[in-house]
Amino acid sequence: MAETLTGFAAAPGRAYGPTHVVQSHARKVARRLIDASQRDAELKRLEQAADALARSLKDSADALASQAPSKTHNLAEALLTSQRAVLDDPVFIDGMRDAIAQRNLCAEWAVESTLNDLQRKFRRLADERFRSWFHDVQGLADELLRELIGASPTRYLQCDEGDIVVAHSLTISDTIKLIERGAAGFILERGSLTSHVAVLCRSAGIAAVTGIDAAAEYFGEDQLLMVDGDKGLVCSVVQKPDKTRQSESFEETLPAPLAPDGSSVTLRANLELRLDAQWARSQGTQGVGLWRTFFQYIGRSDLPSEHHLATLFGRVVEDFAPDPVHIRLLDLSGPFEEHELPLELRNIGPCRGIRLRQHRPDVLITQIRAIVRAATRGDVRVLVPFVTDVSEMLWVREQVQSACETLNPGAQVAVGAMIEVPAAVLSIDAICDVSDHLAIGSNDLGALLLGYGREDPRPPGPPHAALIDAIATIVRAAQRRGIAVSLCGELASDLRGTRALMATGLRHLSLTPRLAPALRFTLHEMWRRSQRAAQSRSGQA
Ligand code: PEP
Ligand code: MG
Repeated sequence: MAETLTGFAAAPGRAYGPTHVVQSHARKVARRLIDASQRDAELKRLEQAADALARSLKDSADALASQAPSKTHNLAEALLTSQRAVLDDPVFIDGMRDAIAQRNLCAEWAVESTLNDLQRKFRRLADERFRSWFHDVQGLADELLRELIGASPTRYLQCDEGDIVVAHSLTISDTIKLIERGAAGFILERGSLTSHVAVLCRSAGIAAVTGIDAAAEYFGEDQLLMVDGDKGLVCSVVQKPDKTRQSESFEETLPAPLAPDGSSVTLRANLELRLDAQWARSQGTQGVGLWRTFFQYIGRSDLPSEHHLATLFGRVVEDFAPDPVHIRLLDLSGPFEEHELPLELRNIGPCRGIRLRQHRPDVLITQIRAIVRAATRGDVRVLVPFVTDVSEMLWVREQVQSACETLNPGAQVAVGAMIEVPAAVLSIDAICDVSDHLAIGSNDLGALLLGYGREDPRPPGPPHAALIDAIATIVRAAQRRGIAVSLCGELASDLRGTRALMATGLRHLSLTPRLAPALRFTLHEMWRRSQRAAQSRSGQA
């Protein structure tokens, strides 16, 4: 039975997966009164723990500084620096020293007692934002307790890719480690919207809900949960997995994706950095609906060679076989800094999608040749981004044909247009005539149709009717021409729009694999309800 708990919407997005519970060390605080002869030893333990924590904060900041710069890393580094400043603050550490020296509390109790004093002071602050900073002080105190207790930080940081991390509270460096290990979502007992976990999750695009009381005690390990960071909800959609059924994989617990009319729906993976077919399959996707090849160009100074791309494409196509892999030609879409691009692609100005052919047709031809070479390994198809007119598609088709003739005679590589610019919707019939299939890019289409920036927050509420209408127009045109059409923008993972998407007739959806299980459950629930409605109608008749 589904159960829903309400907390704070700390970082937007939705994630679905098995829980990894990080047990809190802070709960096991010893409360011991000491006598005068033990005071110096306790003060020394506190100093040593504070020194060890200062060193570990510095090491974590240095480790982050030595890695490739990213928004999340820079943010974490800044947060670690501010934590070191709090640790040095007399209000923090002197309170603890006094509690040991004057009230004869052991070091752990002194930390806890000082924290309680600070909490009372924070509560008196008029500004909610300042009050919420207490959570970060609390996190630091938790870390100090961990040093005092001697708990190993790595002991509980063994999360797997796709896990939902459940914790009492988390340190900055632990949060970063868990994000890097592939945590798909966070549920925390403590933490406000401005707490470091929330800030880091928002920056990394990972859903987080805070303020779920006793979560770390309430949820078991490997419980399947959905985290809705937009609404601040945690939902257990299925029972705890039966531990006796060890052979059952996560994939096998997922219901078949069916539309409300009972027709089957195909869910495919959107690939960026993680090119792992086994993982994508385990999340309930089949094949690749969109491979954003942009990531093969970012963070390097030279252009990838045809050989490099052909080897990579071939491996991925083989891994996903017999399912299709749709490889998108390079779309220089942000956000990125100019210096992150290969030298030869810098300073060509804003140049989305297929418009690159006007500046560097050779870059696209190299990709096309590599795709054609990979076609010997499985079902590979080309996606052309940002198509606005027929001539762009004809150029790509010509390049694909010529590459097939020279590199892979007899090969047939399908070429599809991405429909993500309103101009393409207006000339959809003509574009269908030169396309073997279509892929709808709802991210750009929505932004361009409704006039918001890709970096702006999405319009609140369910997907706009104009976007759904545009999608329905595209689907009808594809059906008239008998060509396949899929949706590969983030709209596929916005469960508020699933029913409307199904009503347009779309039956191929592509999304980031870790969001596919939630979509499969949503589709299943919709299908079940429509079955029940049909049964009660036939009962009444
Ligand atoms: C889209 O625009 O929906 C899309 C899939 O492309 P991207 O998000 O990579 O621009
Ligand atoms: Mg796009």
